[in-house]
Amino acid sequence: MENMAEAAVKELRSTVSSGKTKSYEWRISQLKAILKIVTHHENEIIEALRSDLNKPEHEAFIHEIFSVASSCKLALKELRRWMKPQKVKTGMLTFPSSGEIVPEPLGVVLVISTWNYPFLIAVDPVIGAIAAGNAVVLKPSEVAPATSALLSKLLGEYLDTSAVKVIEGAVRETTELLAQKWDKIMYTGNGRVARIVLAAAAKHLTPVILELGGKCPAVVDANINLKVTARRIISGKWGCNNGQTCISPDYILTTKEYAPKVVDALAAELEKFYGKDPLGSNDLSRIVNIHHFDRLEKLMDDEKVSGKIVHGGQRDKTNLKIAPTILLDVEEDSLIMNEEIFGPLLPIVTVNKIEDSFGAINAKGKPLAAYLFTNDKTLKEEFVRSVSAGAIAINETALHFMEVGLPFGGVGESGMGSYHGKFSFDAFSHKKAVLRRGFGGEVSARYPPYAPWKLQLLKALVKGNIIEILRALLGW
Ligand code: NAD
Repeated sequence: MENMAEAAVKELRSTVSSGKTKSYEWRISQLKAILKIVTHHENEIIEALRSDLNKPEHEAFIHEIFSVASSCKLALKELRRWMKPQKVKTGMLTFPSSGEIVPEPLGVVLVISTWNYPFLIAVDPVIGAIAAGNAVVLKPSEVAPATSALLSKLLGEYLDTSAVKVIEGAVRETTELLAQKWDKIMYTGNGRVARIVLAAAAKHLTPVILELGGKCPAVVDANINLKVTARRIISGKWGCNNGQTCISPDYILTTKEYAPKVVDALAAELEKFYGKDPLGSNDLSRIVNIHHFDRLEKLMDDEKVSGKIVHGGQRDKTNLKIAPTILLDVEEDSLIMNEEIFGPLLPIVTVNKIEDSFGAINAKGKPLAAYLFTNDKTLKEEFVRSVSAGAIAINETALHFMEVGLPFGGVGESGMGSYHGKFSFDAFSHKKAVLRRGFGGEVSARYPPYAPWKLQLLKALVKGNIIEILRALLGW
């Protein structure tokens, strides 16, 4: 018997074959419908995010609702321009001719999403897929069940279900989906499952976008505005889903002498933001589930680092809460330095000279984002030049995510491919090369029987040298 995944792909393929999803009007209607979802159902989305993560309304609105609305508005505004074939200059060899790049939909695509921004990371790629004229199946994360159910309900009500489907579920359902032939798969999540996705995609030669995580470093140089630095680090760490964010600073690198000042500044600002009892603060998300809570406890209780907590450390297992926690001078061989933390713990690694931190970063897998706080122009240039990462932000954390002119994606261990703004449209389009010629402009030199003068002429054409062209043609 046909399973749900097979049936869905069959229906979507037939919709794509009808040509419906290619039209500008269809794409616009679906994008408008998504915009309606975010405007008419803001409260339900906020409630679902509260239920899944106790996400503060402020973060739910800015990071998820506002971001999705902005993506939609941009696509609605720019779609005609994005869809327009792009003229390309052609050369002597094809003269007379014209060339263009025609973006065409890939067909039927699969989006597998994760739990930490369960609304944004599900809907944002769907916007790109629809804008590019594809049919799409969205598989939200079962780890955020309230948002998954809401996505299924709202997308089912507002969108054209013959072309856009939500299939909820966990490993079994995702495995069934991955067994189908797709024209592109976009997966957001961890590296272990990414390997499963990539292996499944290889069977059908399906291209894949992998949005993964890793350990994002924040290098803090001395003699900077520490108050602003501390606030921006806190905002990118604890102010982003309590550290459960792929681009949150995972650890700080600073010099031995400067580290105590960094700790003091962070501690002072943390207290201003979350009070003396951060476990009681409503402005921090909770840990998503007991499995992740236990994982984070293990990182804190590792005997190599348990004595190094210099701020925070409080936890409340019943309510799945962990306070913002700073650990000073952790060793590279501790557990916390050997996996992505993805939670409210922030270790500080000290170096002798700030320049040493660049080598320490490059010795690990390429991060999704790398941050540097400094006033030093040379250090900034050296950081951009020598650190390989999905993105770099100078004197800021995480905010590059909000810039639609910048591609968002990883490199190496942190992923492949990127999206956001026009990059989302490109991610789900094929760039078809089109060369147009008439029946004139025949050059017999391209045809057999080959002769020395023909080769001479072609060489002259390649060089674009008029004198040599004439010489070959006229036999001078
Ligand atoms: P998760 O547990 O929600 O899993 C992600 C998806 O994979 C889910 O839809 C799940 O159903 C599916 N899945 C799980 N096991 C599977 C299996 N065996 N076979 C097939 N599918 C399976 O999320 P997670 O992996 O815990 O997500 C956290 C990770 O995601 C972190 O590493 C984080 O850095 C990364 N992340 C990256 C980005 C980004 O944009 N680059 C954004 C958010 C999170």
